[in-house]
Amino acid sequence: MSLKLYNSLSSKKEVFKSISDKKVKTYGCGPTVYNYPHLGNFRTFVFYDLLNRVLQLNGFETETAVNITDIDDKIIDRVNQENASLKEITSKYELSFLELSKSLKILPNNHNPRATEYVEEMIEFIKALINQDLAYEINGNIFFDTEAYPKYGKFVNISDDLKTEDNELSKKNRNDFTLWKAKKDSDGDIFWNSDWGKGRPGWHTECAVMIKTLFDGRLDIHCGGIDLKFPHHENESAQIEAIQKHNLSNYWLHAEHLNINDEKMSKSLGNFIDVSTLIQKNGSDVVRLFLLSAHYRTKVSFSQKKLDECKKMVEKIKRFAKNFNIDSKNIELKFSSEHKLFIDALNDDLNTPGAIGVFFSFISEINKKIAENSISDVDKEKSLVFLKLFNSIFDILDFNNLHDQNIPSELQDLLVSRQEARENLDWKLSDSIREKIETLGWQVEDTSSGQNLSKKK
Ligand code: AMP
Ligand code: ZN
Repeated sequence: MSLKLYNSLSSKKEVFKSISDKKVKTYGCGPTVYNYPHLGNFRTFVFYDLLNRVLQLNGFETETAVNITDIDDKIIDRVNQENASLKEITSKYELSFLELSKSLKILPNNHNPRATEYVEEMIEFIKALINQDLAYEINGNIFFDTEAYPKYGKFVNISDDLKTEDNELSKKNRNDFTLWKAKKDSDGDIFWNSDWGKGRPGWHTECAVMIKTLFDGRLDIHCGGIDLKFPHHENESAQIEAIQKHNLSNYWLHAEHLNINDEKMSKSLGNFIDVSTLIQKNGSDVVRLFLLSAHYRTKVSFSQKKLDECKKMVEKIKRFAKNFNIDSKNIELKFSSEHKLFIDALNDDLNTPGAIGVFFSFISEINKKIAENSISDVDKEKSLVFLKLFNSIFDILDFNNLHDQNIPSELQDLLVSRQEARENLDWKLSDSIREKIETLGWQVEDTSSGQNLSKKK
């Protein structure tokens, strides 16, 4: 099945066609670095990683970018509260974003542009919009004139009662938005000089200009959380498309929210879950699987119960993987029908729950054969390929460390005793030794190749 993606432009699943034959250009709106990124943010960032991995699975090379929004009202508030410099605040939270991304196995992006490093380009861009009568000035603020751009409203019906920004200022039209904000006293020394006086760019212009500069204003796929569809993405694309002849992006993908107690998890509501604590408690593999276990277009509520379920799933996958000698093999990825079902699910608008379901059915089938001692070489080969394939997307297994566990001598003795008990058909003793092993924080599973010991999570 060819890759299909739900395009917010048409509100339909569409077969993905890339602009160029091989390289696909994607962009995801990144974090506003005034606080540690929370689990909700990472739902969207992990979704962007998933998209890029699935594109690669389909043979595309990807050029990716997630920007760093390092100039914004909320950042300036923080600078003032903490009496710190802009750079002190933004570099701290940018670093946290990058480190957490790494822990959650998000592939590094080709670009992580910082808005503050593109201000010159933003000023030039705004000048071009003013020269074409697409923007106007009021008291040192520059607004985009939505009336001058008849195509405004690709994501919404603009006759509806829309949420607007900056409506306290005397703009010409309700939906006109800020390209440049005049300096306020509270901005302190955070400003740039422009033809319209001191000030700084607006958020929508930041993303638009970074895309224009890095990708020549042309993307295959633009991503972000659903809250960004309007007005952020509407406004990003309006500015660019008003002055260029082609689309900013052919596909727009939006991830649904991660909620907590039926509310969107957000920094401003203060109901967020700290990602590093969650990783420390549960493991990054469990957190990553949790974020991937629901389809990206469904709302998900955070719960420890769901994390615990994911923990069991991760353990099951690891136990399964230990049956095979993965490191010693340079596995050729030859796909059979089971693997194709998994790929089909992912190609159906990144249906991760479907793909996980296919993988688990396969595990159950092979585990049954292992228990019956009837696993064939073909089954073994298929299992190795499936593990590699699964991990190329979900990335929760560390193949180098699967077998690398130091087993204390006390446990080794218990394993020997249990083996003897089993050979003597003394199931009662064998079970009581199993219990003893569990109280020591380990678990034992019987496989065709003998007892399999692993640490309890
Ligand atoms: P921010 O740092 O607030 O600019 O957000 C960075 C990214 O995280 C954006 O794409 C947001 O849409 C996304 N995001 C924010 N909150 C959530 C949430 N609760 N669930 C999913 N995505 C979110
Ligand atoms: Zn953006």
